[in-house]
Amino acid sequence: MAQHTVTLIPGDGIGPELTRAMTRVVEAAGVGIEWEVAEAGADVMDKYGTPLPEHVLESVRRNKVAIKGPITTPVGTGFRSVNVALRRELDLYACLRPAFSIRGSGARYDDIDLVIVRENTEDLYAGIEFAEGSDGAKRLIEFVAAEGAGTIRQDSGISLKPISIMRTQRIVRFAFDYAIANGRKKITAVHKANILKHSDGLFLRVAREVAEEYAGAGVEFEDYIVDATCMQLVLHPEWWDVLVLPNLYGDIVSDICAGLVGGLGIAPGANIGEECAVFEPVHGSAPKYAGKDVANPTAEILSATLMLKHLGETEAAERILNAVRAVIGEGTHVTYDIKRSVTGSTEGSVGTQAYADAIIGQL
Ligand code: NAP
Repeated sequence: MAQHTVTLIPGDGIGPELTRAMTRVVEAAGVGIEWEVAEAGADVMDKYGTPLPEHVLESVRRNKVAIKGPITTPVGTGFRSVNVALRRELDLYACLRPAFSIRGSGARYDDIDLVIVRENTEDLYAGIEFAEGSDGAKRLIEFVAAEGAGTIRQDSGISLKPISIMRTQRIVRFAFDYAIANGRKKITAVHKANILKHSDGLFLRVAREVAEEYAGAGVEFEDYIVDATCMQLVLHPEWWDVLVLPNLYGDIVSDICAGLVGGLGIAPGANIGEECAVFEPVHGSAPKYAGKDVANPTAEILSATLMLKHLGETEAAERILNAVRAVIGEGTHVTYDIKRSVTGSTEGSVGTQAYADAIIGQL
């Protein structure tokens, strides 16, 4: 008997095979979930005229919890990112991306345990853009010149970077509440406020104000410039605890963190709002591996452990995480990416479903 109903968005590329491996592992852990499958992405464009049909959003709103595989976004042209639209439509304002070491992953470090909290709804990803040569771009260029704010070349495409007080307050409060609930000791606000005075400058000022609200909560607060953060993450990944960042930096820095712990194949994520939560790996749809049963489903499976914790199924989540650690630690039933990190060759690796079988065997 199902205890939970969860919207399952398989996605495209490697998404369907990864979500299949994930559902098999979750079911083998004994959690009763009814999966309400909702398709989104390029493949449903012909049928519904949009890559994100309304019934997909309705399903997530009804069930409050969804897990998805990656969805391809055409580069430069075509429809806007379904992933970004989903986050915006459901106001999934907090993107949580834990990065922790797993012994045997072949990562360069073995002592990392940090969490990225990325603002998910504004900044350069707000989707407010003006194509080169468009009326909007021309009017904006004239406006900027008339304001004496600077000169923009006529042959420019323009993307705006709005950062607001309200959305900064709620993401920094989310980071503090998360830190307190999870026994974390330090929050670092990451920014480029020295150059971007009115967007990142606002982010930093508001982050400091919110930190004062939490004075006495036992969580240290500091801030760091984004470029220096990237270098220090690579030099001293053990320094960091919880990092809170505007959208674009959060996206880039979380890929750095994925690399520090062994690659995109093992980096999970969650998008959380007041009403709903959507869990998904950090990585994309890796089209060249689609349908080949080679991609690593760990990121998808670990995203499911975040989902299970969210659903109150903490014991099952821990059991799955321990099974993943056991299989990767043993190193005999791992996918190509981990084998390559550890030995320099993909020889002896197993496929997506065989790896999931090995995890199921450890549960
Ligand atoms: P990607 O799909 O993340 O793949 C980049 C590389 O990362 C792969 O070639 C592979 O490296 C490695 N990788 C990713 N996932 C892996 C896995 N599960 N197992 C093993 N290795 C994995 O990035 P992309 O090629 O830039 O993006 C492809 C599409 O996905 C784009 O349309 C992009 O917009 C979209 N995307 C979607 C989401 C989302 O749905 N949330 C997120 C990011 C990107 P090696 O070949 O070196 O092994």
